[in-house]
Amino acid sequence: MDFGYSPKVEALCEQLRAFMDKHIVPRIRQWHDEVNQGQYPVSFMESLKEQARAEGLWNLFLPHLRDDEPGTRLTNLEYAPLAEIMGRVSWASEVFNCNAPDTGNMELLHMFATPAQRDQWLTPLLDGRIRSAFAMTEPEVASSDATNITTSIRRDGDDYVINGHKWFITNAAHPHCKLFIVMGKTDQQAPAHRQQSMILVPRDTAGVEIVRNITVVNHVAPEGHCEIVFRDVRVPAANLLGEEGSGFALAQARLGPGRIHHCMRSIGAAELALELMVERAQSRTTFGKALHEHGAVGEWIAKSRIEIEQARLLVLKAAWMIDRVGAKEARKEISMIKALVPTVYANVCERAMQVFGAMGLSPDTPLADNWTWARALRFADGPDEVHLQGIARMEIKARPYVAGATNAYLIMPARD
Ligand SMILES: Cc1cc2nc3c(=O)[nH]c(=O)nc-3n(C[C@H](O)[C@H](O)[C@H](O)COP(=O)(O)OP(=O)(O)OC[C@H]3O[C@@H](n4cnc5c(N)ncnc54)[C@H](O)[C@@H]3O)c2cc1C
Repeated sequence: MDFGYSPKVEALCEQLRAFMDKHIVPRIRQWHDEVNQGQYPVSFMESLKEQARAEGLWNLFLPHLRDDEPGTRLTNLEYAPLAEIMGRVSWASEVFNCNAPDTGNMELLHMFATPAQRDQWLTPLLDGRIRSAFAMTEPEVASSDATNITTSIRRDGDDYVINGHKWFITNAAHPHCKLFIVMGKTDQQAPAHRQQSMILVPRDTAGVEIVRNITVVNHVAPEGHCEIVFRDVRVPAANLLGEEGSGFALAQARLGPGRIHHCMRSIGAAELALELMVERAQSRTTFGKALHEHGAVGEWIAKSRIEIEQARLLVLKAAWMIDRVGAKEARKEISMIKALVPTVYANVCERAMQVFGAMGLSPDTPLADNWTWARALRFADGPDEVHLQGIARMEIKARPYVAGATNAYLIMPARD
């Protein structure tokens, strides 16, 4: 087993780190200033995107690009350390056209769009000219069970008509967001997992109303986690993605790689939190000792290092599995990292915030924002408990019950 990255990936990592140091890290303050003034910093974002694309640091997440599609054609395993580097700055992945939820949406369109849908939506997304959102969750029903959703997609002549209420729809407030991929029901009478379909809804269609951008732990995300009402929204029948009744299967296909990207970026952000924690613990003293010399702080540093390493290895294994056997076969590994990594990320931020003292809760470090995002990730793409339930189910299924199968390992006295 080789734990190193290939020379190709090492070179890309070096190139990406240099780009981050030169173009992104110096703009962190400007980004926050512009966001605090209520504007999305699209101006410098667009010029950075052009530069990244010119340097070949573009669409690094998508392994199976066609010859005519722009991108770097890396495996998921090769992409992992690059996503980690991007994850050090919350908005950096957009510069490389590798940000959620667009990556998951591009993957979905790449797999299932018709040629006309590809031309209309996938090409501009791969070029970074537009942004997109994925709308599944609804306020009125427990949406971690997708069979609960109530949004209706009703066929009417050559059109579909959509009525529903969604919330926490990421990216919907982005000024360049032009497409919503909406999950709803086309047939309430079909079997539970064949009722759902996905449909492509242009952002500016009549009847689409963005009600608000919901703050997350009181943090405003400029790209938005929006509440949206779809009221008699009419789109051509050709906007259906896949076939009627395939929505559940499409959602499963979409969420695999999207989940792993979140986890890869989170490892990078957790590494940054640990770096900040270590430097702070070295630079401040109380009661005659550097902070790291106090047992509790040293332990937080050590635990953080152990947890990050464990999480990274599991993420790399999941990426390797997706590359080898596909996201469907790797669903246990994907669920494992989704249930693990956000908690590791939140724990490391939490400890770093404590080491920073009161400053850790202020907007003067990235820790509070990052903790908020780590906490949110315990819901986004399915809450921890649903993933844990799935893992347990797969574990149980893999070992059909045979009474006494493990008896040989028991030390209890033999019974007659
Ligand atoms: C910042 C953020 C961004 C998001 N972005 C998007 C987006 O872009 N698009 C989108 O469609 N959605 C998005 N979501 C929504 C997210 O996917 C849902 O919140 C999630 O799927 C849970 O659905 P729910 O909120 O309806 O919780 P519910 O389904 O009501 O579940 C509530 C709780 O019940 C418990 N629970 C549920 N099932 C089980 C079980 N099987 N075993 C044990 N306990 C269980 C869990 O503790 C769970 O947290 C986002 C959420 C956040 C916070």
